[in-house]
Amino acid sequence: MKKISNKTCVYAMSPQNPPVMTVSPGEQVQFETLDALAGQVKTLEDFNGLDMTRVNPATGPVYIEGAEVGDILSVRIDKIEVDSQGVVICGKGMGALGHILEDTARKIVPIVGDVAHFSDKIHLPLNKMIGVIGTAPKDESIPCGAPDYHGGNMDCKEIKEGATVLLPVNVPGALLAMGDLHAAMADGEIGISGIEVSGLVTVTIDVIKGKNWPLPMIISDSYVMTLASHVDLDIAVEMAVANMVDYMQGLGFDKYDAVMLCSLAGDVHICQVVDPKKTVRVTMSPSILQKA
Ligand code: CA
Repeated sequence: MKKISNKTCVYAMSPQNPPVMTVSPGEQVQFETLDALAGQVKTLEDFNGLDMTRVNPATGPVYIEGAEVGDILSVRIDKIEVDSQGVVICGKGMGALGHILEDTARKIVPIVGDVAHFSDKIHLPLNKMIGVIGTAPKDESIPCGAPDYHGGNMDCKEIKEGATVLLPVNVPGALLAMGDLHAAMADGEIGISGIEVSGLVTVTIDVIKGKNWPLPMIISDSYVMTLASHVDLDIAVEMAVANMVDYMQGLGFDKYDAVMLCSLAGDVHICQVVDPKKTVRVTMSPSILQKA
């Protein structure tokens, strides 16, 4: 199996990034990823002198043979393995509650098995996820810290083992990159960080042709999700639900039925509210979608 080293990473997703590897549709590949602080912090002392130009690295990009503009890139997440410790931070001016904090707090969180040791008393079950996953935008460069139509820093806790992320192919080869694993994170990510951790992601990459689906999406046997990101959370909600209605119309649903069904069975969740754009997802059951 091909393995992409975390030494080959980018800090922005761009059509100008040279691919570090080429893979074929159907191929299983491993991405070795650095944490959101580029692996600079191993002890609390390492926060002194932290190079803030090196944040949110994404490993890659990878060129997928046969991926043409207008296709959909399918990335099935087979496995996420995380390092034995992660970092969590919050502080003045950061995240949703930066205005009530006077200082910055940082914690090194040991990870033992499937448990994160937040403190001696508080142990959290892991929900390992990929914070940053995206393709190259068409004709611009978007920093890896931002989510947008190409994917990016969506910080969605559903981007986890067993899920398949669908992303747009905006340039030939798609140029897939990913990083920013979290060992645990709640919807919202309100303090600005999950348990930021380095690791290894195993994915199976494929190309879907001839579909005009509203991307990005996440699918599995038990759900279909549409996602959208916008600086205004209200607009992000509208965009994500409109994407689900659009997808449902493509399956053959009447528009009014689709809106009613979103109202009745399309759960709206906030992924995160702390990145340059806020991300929302809408979840619908395949048992409904199959009945168009
Ligand atoms: Ca992130």
